[in-house]
Amino acid sequence: MSTVSTGVLLLLSVLLPALQPCSADGRGTLFRVNSHVEEAWSVQDTGSRLLYHLPAQPVDSSGKPIPAGSSWCLLSAANNLTCSSVQELTITAIKAPVKATNVRIRLLVAAFRIGSGCPSGGASATDVTNAYLGARGHAFLMESCSYGQMVYDKTALKVVEVTAPCDRAFSSCDDNRIADLGMQLLERQLGADVVNSYTHFSFVLPNNNGCNWAGLALVPGQFTWYPANADGIFNLGTVMQEALHNFGLYHGWRNGREYEDLSTSMGLGSSCPSAPELYRLGWATPADTLSGGSLPEGGVYREYRLPATHLTGRANMLRVLPDWLGSGYNKNMYFALRQRAGGDWQLQDEFNNKVNVHVADSSVDNAFTSQDDPKFTIVDTIGAGEARDFTAYRLAVRAGRLRVQHAQPAGLAATSSSVTITAAAAAEGFAFTATASSVAFAPTAEDLSFAATASSVAFATTSQAEPPAAVAQPFTAAPCQEPQPTAAGSEPASS
Ligand SMILES: [Zn+2]
Repeated sequence: MSTVSTGVLLLLSVLLPALQPCSADGRGTLFRVNSHVEEAWSVQDTGSRLLYHLPAQPVDSSGKPIPAGSSWCLLSAANNLTCSSVQELTITAIKAPVKATNVRIRLLVAAFRIGSGCPSGGASATDVTNAYLGARGHAFLMESCSYGQMVYDKTALKVVEVTAPCDRAFSSCDDNRIADLGMQLLERQLGADVVNSYTHFSFVLPNNNGCNWAGLALVPGQFTWYPANADGIFNLGTVMQEALHNFGLYHGWRNGREYEDLSTSMGLGSSCPSAPELYRLGWATPADTLSGGSLPEGGVYREYRLPATHLTGRANMLRVLPDWLGSGYNKNMYFALRQRAGGDWQLQDEFNNKVNVHVADSSVDNAFTSQDDPKFTIVDTIGAGEARDFTAYRLAVRAGRLRVQHAQPAGLAATSSSVTITAAAAAEGFAFTATASSVAFAPTAEDLSFAATASSVAFATTSQAEPPAAVAQPFTAAPCQEPQPTAAGSEPASS
């Protein structure tokens, strides 16, 4: 084996049977590739951007899976883009979570069609550009949902129609080969300097391709792929999800099923990320984080006033770490008011004007550097005046009424997220009450303005750990936007 001097810390090495050595000399990064019908693993060469398929998620010498985002030294010679085995790869660094704030995405899109031999149509540059920059397009959704912390550079955004040769990559849906072709054609048309000035690249498939997914993304990474249809590049939820996969976000869950959180684009919705996703991305902060230390048992009620999440990222959720469960503590809880307005204008009825309740695996959720799936799972929605007893978490919750404030010209500044904490009578043992306030929606000139509302929600805990109450509402099947109807199934997610 040759050695590579990298100047960086070598943490782990991987030795697997060498049936068909694959990869190029140089440096690369490990990616999970999420096609929504299957999960795959690739290494991308840092210099050439070529992607190499791996047979599976690699493990280190102790058998521990190596997380996506890790950097690699690539030690052997490549002979194709699919590795039947990994001969030797050396991890040089474990990547921290991808920075997702103060991000300006410079996006370059290759809109494919196929030329001589097997001509095909595809999406036009005009249509794709409009999908991003038009009213309530992809750029608006991203900017709204991130409170301006992640935006597309609208001046730089460029969609280039590229005509590829009649290549088997399309009929066989070889995503790595398609990306390679796309980058080559972009460089041919724009020059390498221009291409290298972009941070992210999307590939819109030609018509008549062999792909059965609605979107594909490197997790984390810079590449996304879409079909040229209403499930793919022209679908707000799909594009939002793929874009956020690039920043390490996983899918939303419900009832143990991936994708089925319909309150977020990371599931099968077309709205903004859910509260735990907003928190993970660094786009929003909690009004409070409650645990046994700050919420002692004994009947203390606390009252919070939360703005609807579309209004502001500041103090727009409650984060509860029920460590009073002792060894049974393995989930964190998130409470946030959702409302159909702003970036959430496509929020479904089930979640509108309700406090949405999510749980997350605490071991991942509490670890900043974890690359694992925290399995953000929606478990309930609480309407005004309703109460819940989350017995599994010894936590009870009551929602007060929605309070409406008048719209302010400044929109986002309209809501004051003052937090009042009051003691309240608890039936027995440990209880707390949190009051969330909500926000109403008032159309403005562009139909995008907000009117603030305030409502209240209450929480309380019970002293017995019991099986969860009937928490989840019946799941409503929604049209799949990520996996196409022809997709064979769904797969684990991203990070
Ligand atoms: Zn996805």
